[in-house]
Amino acid sequence: MSKIIRRTKIVATLGPASESPAVLDRLIKAGVNVVRLNFSHGTPEEHRQRAESVRAAAKNNGVVVGILADMQGPKIRVGKFITGKTELVPGQKFIIDAEMDLDAGNDERVGITYKELIDDVKPGDRLLLNDGLIVMDADSVVGQEIHCTVILGGELSNNKGINKAGGGLSAAALTEKDKEDIITACSIGVDYIAISFPRHGADMDYARSLVRAAGGHAGLVAKVERAEAVEDENLKSIMESSDAVMVARGDLGVEVGDAAVPPIQKKMLRMAPKYNCPVIVATQMMESMCSNPIPTRAEVNDVANAVLDGTDAVMLSGESAAGKYPVEAVEAMHRTCIETEKQRVLPSSATRDPRFPPHSVDECIARQAMETAHSMPIRAIAAFTDTGNTVLYMSRHLGDVPIYALTPKQSTLGRVTLFRNVTPLCMPVDYGPTEAPQATIDVKQMMLEKGIVNEEDLIIMTFGTPMGHSGGTNALKIIRIGDNLS
Ligand code: PGA
Ligand code: MN
Repeated sequence: MSKIIRRTKIVATLGPASESPAVLDRLIKAGVNVVRLNFSHGTPEEHRQRAESVRAAAKNNGVVVGILADMQGPKIRVGKFITGKTELVPGQKFIIDAEMDLDAGNDERVGITYKELIDDVKPGDRLLLNDGLIVMDADSVVGQEIHCTVILGGELSNNKGINKAGGGLSAAALTEKDKEDIITACSIGVDYIAISFPRHGADMDYARSLVRAAGGHAGLVAKVERAEAVEDENLKSIMESSDAVMVARGDLGVEVGDAAVPPIQKKMLRMAPKYNCPVIVATQMMESMCSNPIPTRAEVNDVANAVLDGTDAVMLSGESAAGKYPVEAVEAMHRTCIETEKQRVLPSSATRDPRFPPHSVDECIARQAMETAHSMPIRAIAAFTDTGNTVLYMSRHLGDVPIYALTPKQSTLGRVTLFRNVTPLCMPVDYGPTEAPQATIDVKQMMLEKGIVNEEDLIIMTFGTPMGHSGGTNALKIIRIGDNLS
């Protein structure tokens, strides 16, 4: 009965390397909690099929796996080259031409997918292409052309991304394609939708109105990857209006500079509990595993530091989508998390910073549950939850005692897959107003059957009286599993 539970969640991106049922099955066995579908690639029908494969594989393994649909967003790209690419050398002149045919790039100029870039760029601005591998400075804007001097050269090939150093691009966070993709994602019934390049909370509010209009239940993840988004007021409003945030270190690093990313990651992890906002740390966490079967020491350190700082989840992108070792990458993350979690995340106290007082009755019960769990030998917390909010609040305390989210609701089970130290458990029954005694008996039996507890163990149960009432958690009980077990 000493099953090791990993508290930090693993998000893995699906792609050609991992979408076959056989690999998907191995990924889930290796411990993936949430699968990310990248809507930058593929048709609605393909996304639907991928989601079905994920659900089938999860069911076969008797676990709940969340699905995150990641929107492409206003990623600006250069057009194509007649010869597929051009070789740029430092000092040479190059033109970004908004009027040019998108297929007609040559050694002197190339087209661009976002014509308005012309209005956002001023002489002296720095443009970063291909994730910053190529750098050019704008000398002048002439009509529909940005005239540049190459600073850092190299091969520039078809459709590579382009960012402006320091941010300041006017592109709205949601493109027409994103709006259609949100409808697709809602009809698939995904658990989370990630919005790319939001500038502030209002972009997330707008995305939420689209999800509502499409009748979806998905939570919203804000990908923090724009310079504007990390300004204090914007980050605050993003955390207030999102169900989770992602430290999207790829584009973020291009906009703010690589050296600015670690302090931003730390700041986000420090801020997030105040807003009850889960965090996903993403991009290049195990990058070398795209081609190697083991990670570098630096990558292991990177994952471990995110865990020590209290992240909810760590994410794999190319490693699981297109790399040679998708399963090994999940295994490497798993063992790194397990080992790191042996050290408490918060050294002195399991409870949350007292400066963040509870806002509601259920949040208050959640806090008391965590206090109690760490002052008594409590084996587990069994929380009845309709929306998942109670376990969200509990999980923010970064405690060690495992939290089980009990609900018959599929959407809630999917939502909690992202929360640190929360395990979804499907309760087949929706208890009525007077059924707390029966619920207690059923919980004990279920936890015994699953090997989570022994008869002598104490657990905390939280629930609402009357039961079956959304947002109504108002009670906490300490139960010895073996007592009155009929
Ligand atoms: P992407 O987002 O992989 O969709 O670009 C993550 C990031 O930018 O880090
Ligand atoms: Mn990105």
